[in-house]
Amino acid sequence: MTPLDKAHIALRPASALDEPRRRQFLGQSISALALWGLGGLGFGVRPRAWANAFEPLVVDNATWRAWLSDAAYEVLRDEGTEPPRSSPLDRLDDPGTYVCAGCFLPLFSAEHKYDSGTGWPSFWRPLNEAHIDTKKDFKLIWPRTEYHCARCKGHQGHVFGDGPEPTGQRWCNNGVALRFIPAGEALPALRQAPQSS
Ligand SMILES: [Zn+2]
Repeated sequence: MTPLDKAHIALRPASALDEPRRRQFLGQSISALALWGLGGLGFGVRPRAWANAFEPLVVDNATWRAWLSDAAYEVLRDEGTEPPRSSPLDRLDDPGTYVCAGCFLPLFSAEHKYDSGTGWPSFWRPLNEAHIDTKKDFKLIWPRTEYHCARCKGHQGHVFGDGPEPTGQRWCNNGVALRFIPAGEALPALRQAPQSS
């Protein structure tokens, strides 16, 4: 099994998993439920699912144009790719959180960032898989796995199977599609659709 296969398995829904993995998944789910229960009882333990809930953000094109720079619009709304080494986030090594530049949904943590040498900010896992959607991209001759923000559908980058352990994944992201929030700074409130749209 190649690392990319592993990445796909990690992204597949539970129903598509084979039986041993499904059992493992169920075990983890039960553990998560147990943790949820403890959290509810005031033990201070909150499963990741706590932060998953969000409403999709759907706004018209004029609103995106008003919100985004031309470079961010080209990547997020037109699935463009920024030139390598063009983003200051590529070399940034500070602790913090990377949120979607379109809607501010948290997508990556600096804890999972590494220097891939490609010239694009790279991560070995997303902060929360529920915040990311993927699709096959046939823009090049060979298929790649495109991924985008699950809330606003803004294009972020592509995931490859040549990343470091423990996942073997390389989430290759456009820096202009992210906004970095340093550790200790409050995350921005999720962007909301204007009242009129
Ligand atoms: Zn977004």
